Amino acid sequence: LRSEMGNVERLSLVGQMAAGITHEIRNPMAVVRGFLQLMREKSPVSLDHYYRIVMEELDRANGIINDFLSLAQNRIVEKEESHLHSLVEELEPLLWADANLRGQSIELKLDDRVPNLYLNPKEIKQLILNLARNGMEAMSEKGVLTILTRADGEYVELEVRDTGQGIPAERIGKLFEPFFTTKAKGTGLGLSLCKRIVERHHGMISVHSVEGEGTSFIIKLSRLADYPAALPDMKNSKEA
Ligand code: ADP
Ligand code: MG
Repeated sequence: LRSEMGNVERLSLVGQMAAGITHEIRNPMAVVRGFLQLMREKSPVSLDHYYRIVMEELDRANGIINDFLSLAQNRIVEKEESHLHSLVEELEPLLWADANLRGQSIELKLDDRVPNLYLNPKEIKQLILNLARNGMEAMSEKGVLTILTRADGEYVELEVRDTGQGIPAERIGKLFEPFFTTKAKGTGLGLSLCKRIVERHHGMISVHSVEGEGTSFIIKLSRLADYPAALPDMKNSKEA
């Protein structure tokens, strides 16, 4: 029990520190961004090339800070009745833009029977985007990223499938650990954030991968989870 309490206290302390540090870092970064823009405008020589690189790196740093913050803060997220398919469709242009740059394509296989779910739309979009980006990064040209949904009784499944390099079996257990990455510019925060988001939605996430063939991440959400009208005892058993 003691170590459990220590854990809870440590988590909230990390959460508070993360919020504070994030705030303190974001401000100077915004200032840097602004002055950089000014420098480019006022400079007698073109700084476009350097400007683009610095901006990309600033955005990357910002992304890491945001991921870290949403990971460290175990806040209760606000949920609303929404539809998975409309979230996927909102992301579609973004996904296609990424895919086009890589010579890859996107396929959607959405099950019409999928009902509305009680979700945090922003978080679920983040989840899909993280999984899709990983999928694209694992594929070479001509790769196909497929997003599937399935209605299965009480559950709704969301699958993000790629035709990429696959994941060696001995690596599967490490994927969801914060900071685990095999990429030169990876943060290793993407999948731990995905796991956290799925947990906040009382769902399950699993991986299936065949080396050389591809990988599939499957998220299983209960259609009853978190609905204000859900029976309290059913809710409790799901959270256990
Ligand atoms: P990052 O993408 O920054 O490396 P993630 O947490 O998103 O961090 O992913 C962690 C690691 O899991 C990746 O570095 C990669 O080795 C592996 N991985 C994740 N998704 C896939 C995928 N679809 N195919 C192959 N490997 C993957
Ligand atoms: Mg990633």
